[in-house]
Amino acid sequence: MMLALEMYRSLPRYIAARAVGGRVPGILTGPAAPVRLVNREEPRTAAAGWARVKPILSGICGSDLGALFGQTSMYFSALVSMPFVPGHEVVGELVDDCEDLPAGTRVVLDPVLSCAARGVERCQSCANGQTNRCDRVTVGHVSPGLQTGYCADTGGGWGGQLVAHRSQLHAVPDGLSDERAVLVEPLSCAVHTAMRAQVPDGGSVLVSGAGAVGLFATLALRELTPAGRISVVAKHPRQRELARAFGATDVLAPDEVPARVRRATQAFRLTPERSGEFLLGGVDVGIDAVGSKDSLSTTLRVTRAGGRVVLSGMPAAGADLSPVWFRELEVVGTYATQGREAFTRAFDLAASAPLDGVVGGRYPLYRWREALDHAHSAGRLGTVKVAFDLRSSR
Ligand SMILES: [Zn+2]
Repeated sequence: MMLALEMYRSLPRYIAARAVGGRVPGILTGPAAPVRLVNREEPRTAAAGWARVKPILSGICGSDLGALFGQTSMYFSALVSMPFVPGHEVVGELVDDCEDLPAGTRVVLDPVLSCAARGVERCQSCANGQTNRCDRVTVGHVSPGLQTGYCADTGGGWGGQLVAHRSQLHAVPDGLSDERAVLVEPLSCAVHTAMRAQVPDGGSVLVSGAGAVGLFATLALRELTPAGRISVVAKHPRQRELARAFGATDVLAPDEVPARVRRATQAFRLTPERSGEFLLGGVDVGIDAVGSKDSLSTTLRVTRAGGRVVLSGMPAAGADLSPVWFRELEVVGTYATQGREAFTRAFDLAASAPLDGVVGGRYPLYRWREALDHAHSAGRLGTVKVAFDLRSSR
């Protein structure tokens, strides 16, 4: 048996609605809490190519919080199997040999449970190396689950043990600390975001949001693309500081976005009736790194005609799509990451970027309420990433 946090039911929507703006522990300790700390069976290795992994550190992602607080679209309910152990940002240690990787190897996880892991014939996307676009995430010998951390069979990072397929494993170089290695998965997503942004040479970019997603996107855009001005929208002092350290040219408060982008890009600013301002002109690329209605609306409204808008945060419903139509915007999603190369680049960033102190809170599993509360308020508290420390839970 192992200790694990288990998500065992969806948070009813009416409770989620009441919880907006409220205190998180209240939701999680109440009778409707969707998550609990349990002793449960260790997940088993079902087939060839699978091995057990003992997590060392496992991050808390915005998408985890969305699922726990009932803020995720019901669209995803068909892509998970319950009860599952959350946690997909994992650095851990192999318990078994896994093909070429010997037991004891430190690994980070590519959480996507694609055709290779499921033992089915590869879909078109997997055959192209685009495993994040896999069409078979609900079939094969593994229960439905778009990723480890949303699948009933595999376990997840917020538990004492998980099982993973060789296709999901990347060996961690010896010199890289656990505190940096646990950032490799979110950094690999940022690398993918930077690639999807297709920034023109010297192009201007707006990154809306300076949580982990926005900050890491800023870092990847600066390191891997020919972006010129990168403007980052940040609410809190520590976020502003880090945005600059990660390559932002300038940092804006949310309410100054239209005015500042207008000045920087010589755009026209218009104020419609009973609606937010927008620009004619604007940045070449807008990146929504929050996923809220406000953040997406703002991003759409300050991106130039023919520009590109990248949905990097899990999107909320309800943004006005008028600018997409009128400005002929190209709106693209970016989900997880694509290919070994993105992980290679993420390992390089993890080793070289100024990431000391980015994992700002580490909690044993039994302090899960504090951990989730900290993650929920991370921006305000000056923390980028909160993680569970599984070493103390063994
Ligand atoms: Zn596939």
